[in-house]
Amino acid sequence: MDLKKYITIVPDWPKEGVLFKDITTLMDNGKAFKYATDLIVQYAREKRVDIVVGPEARGFIIGCPVAYALGVGFAPVRKEGKLPRETIKADYGKEYGKDALTIHKDAIKKGQRVLITDDLLATGGTIEATIELVERLGGIVVGIAFLIELTYLDGRRKLEDYDLLSLINF
Ligand code: IMP
Repeated sequence: MDLKKYITIVPDWPKEGVLFKDITTLMDNGKAFKYATDLIVQYAREKRVDIVVGPEARGFIIGCPVAYALGVGFAPVRKEGKLPRETIKADYGKEYGKDALTIHKDAIKKGQRVLITDDLLATGGTIEATIELVERLGGIVVGIAFLIELTYLDGRRKLEDYDLLSLINF
């Protein structure tokens, strides 16, 4: 299935000059969403994943159905101030500004094999911060799966020590 045709390109959003890749037109198509999810599930099975971790909000959309299919847990990574219990924090720079991400301190057990998921790899800042959080808790990042990779931003270079899967390239 050609997944690319389900992505809508929105010019000048959220600001002028950006060609935003809108995944909602893939998600609202049951066949395309299932096809994409199944590919990531297959990848996660090969990696013998113990838990899935994804940054808000679209990392949840990709990661939760994968965790469900595998019968493993999902741990959310969220912007500062959103998680209710004790967290650790990582600062990062992203395509449209600066931010901090957090994860619950007890979300991952030492030695667990972690799959990180997100909708899109741009500069790699979001995923770099997510990796930092997982590794500080003792998790092993065995794979990182994206629906979309913006290859022209070369975020992959920041993540060269890790195994990446991306289903659609721009
Ligand atoms: P990075 O940190 O620069 O790799 O940016 C990736 C993050 O920004 C992901 O969490 C995406 O959800 C979001 N993002 C950046 N560009 C787009 C886009 O064109 N479509 C959807 N999300 C995007």
